[in-house]
Amino acid sequence: MKNDAAKVTSISSHPLVIDKLTKARDSSATSESFRVLIYQITTMLLYEAGASLNLKPRKIETPLQCMEGFEIEESLAIVPILRAGITMSDAASKLFPQASVVHLGLKRDENTLEAKIYFEGQLNQPGETTCILLDPMLATGGTANAACTTLKGWGVKRIIFVGIVGAPEGLSSLSKTHPDIEIYLAALDNHLNENGYIVPGLGDAGDRLFGTL
Ligand code: URA
Repeated sequence: MKNDAAKVTSISSHPLVIDKLTKARDSSATSESFRVLIYQITTMLLYEAGASLNLKPRKIETPLQCMEGFEIEESLAIVPILRAGITMSDAASKLFPQASVVHLGLKRDENTLEAKIYFEGQLNQPGETTCILLDPMLATGGTANAACTTLKGWGVKRIIFVGIVGAPEGLSSLSKTHPDIEIYLAALDNHLNENGYIVPGLGDAGDRLFGTL
């Protein structure tokens, strides 16, 4: 069962996603509840993104008889961008326990303002692996672009980006730089402010997740 990996940009319209994102945006949410909400939203976005995964047949025996079922064909790697992607990766690992988790650390170079890799994990089978790239905030797109370039440099053919909130600037930059990437977001917000924060957004996702405000 092959699904066409045609390029997808999906902004969730699911009431549960919208409800939980509203709670996460609320600045009165504690770090603990923020973490739970990001985990839950990620699970739902992955459910939406998972609809495009390919299946292969698998013979099994139910308690009553043999049958041909299906299982996910693709070899999957979960690629969280440090540090804010970690909570999303916890949710992804629960949903895809067969997937490996490969961390990517990126930070902005103070001189060039470009995102630079400071930590790079390794894939087991780069060319055959579908990567689920996780970062809650798609702001300027600089980090996601650099991450996709790195994954393609490893030989990855299919990248599914899952984020919580995007800015139009980041979505447009990622779609133009990497038109083959499939993008799933819970919401597309209004704009970026002068400090690079998404507005209305949800603030600094890493600080809120890890209680480092
Ligand atoms: N990173 C964040 O954590 N929040 C933003 O609004 C933008 C980038």
